[in-house]
Amino acid sequence: MENREVIKRIRDIKDRLGKELVILTHHYQRSDIIDLGDYRGDSFGLSQKAAADNNARYIVFCGVYFMAESAAILAQPHQTVQIPDIEAGCWMSDMADQVMVEKAWDEVTAITSRDEITPLVYMNSDAFIKAHCGRNGGLVCTSSNAPKAFKWAFDRRERIFFFPDEHLGRNTGNSMNIPSDEMILWDPELPLGGNTEKAIRKARVYLWKGYCLVHTRFRTDHIQEARGKYPNGKIVVHPECIQEVVALADAAGSTSFIVKHVEDSSPGSTVIIGTEINLIKRLSQEYPDRTILPLMESLCPNMYKISPEKLLTTLEHIGEHNLVTVQEDIKENAGLALDRMLELAG
Ligand code: SF4
Repeated sequence: MENREVIKRIRDIKDRLGKELVILTHHYQRSDIIDLGDYRGDSFGLSQKAAADNNARYIVFCGVYFMAESAAILAQPHQTVQIPDIEAGCWMSDMADQVMVEKAWDEVTAITSRDEITPLVYMNSDAFIKAHCGRNGGLVCTSSNAPKAFKWAFDRRERIFFFPDEHLGRNTGNSMNIPSDEMILWDPELPLGGNTEKAIRKARVYLWKGYCLVHTRFRTDHIQEARGKYPNGKIVVHPECIQEVVALADAAGSTSFIVKHVEDSSPGSTVIIGTEINLIKRLSQEYPDRTILPLMESLCPNMYKISPEKLLTTLEHIGEHNLVTVQEDIKENAGLALDRMLELAG
């Protein structure tokens, strides 16, 4: 079927379902998907919007699996959540599964104590890990509120176990001046995460060895090259980048921060961005009066799995195809961890 016909059929179904249908599109989706969505944004903001919309019976999440799962955790009982491609996973989220995390938790709390550690999990994780954190007095964070979440955790206990992104955890710790020898890496493949008992007792932050392949591709030489070519340009990167890249950039922040940074830049200015390429391309189209460039082209193939054809198939089987559900007990505990995150806003 031709692309034009696919888009027409999608629009017809949208018209027919009206307010009962909400299509959520993450910032990293390609433009033809964004154009078909009702809301675009980051994963938590989108899930919240859909859950708060009482008219929405059918939520279709154009993003990766953990995002649709988060929408399912927050969804009301009358809402269903679907994803156009059930295989659209996230590498980072897959780096921490329930068995690995529970084993690490048992190891670390046997050396310290459960009362000393807050488990803190990045939104980019599966529902089991969020539930583990909820059950153990911890919370979820996003790349926007990670420093507030660290503070929340340190106000209550002395240590944090941060899952699953080493780099967001390290960059957040750096921004709070936590000494590097008090942040240790936890490699789930190794006994005690590759650490000695002494190092575990000394550390205040345990960083799970997980990473985003899209953001760790940016290197310091990309920044040096961009500075050479565009001496007046501003470089802004995502905090899933390695600490050396964040240190050389002019600013670092979440996708929403990056969007706002471009919005606030003056016409005629140059902004060079280190994040997923689809967002950068779109910003460059939306702000033709400024020069918006990628630090390097880095595409998330998982996000790219969502195509108009797959969206159409999902809409043709609304409420049935590629449903994303979460077990009740997992939903309850993951919901606790998400509720604690909401306290951070206050
Ligand atoms: S960009 Fe990275 S963290 Fe985001 S979905 Fe893709 S692999 Fe996961």
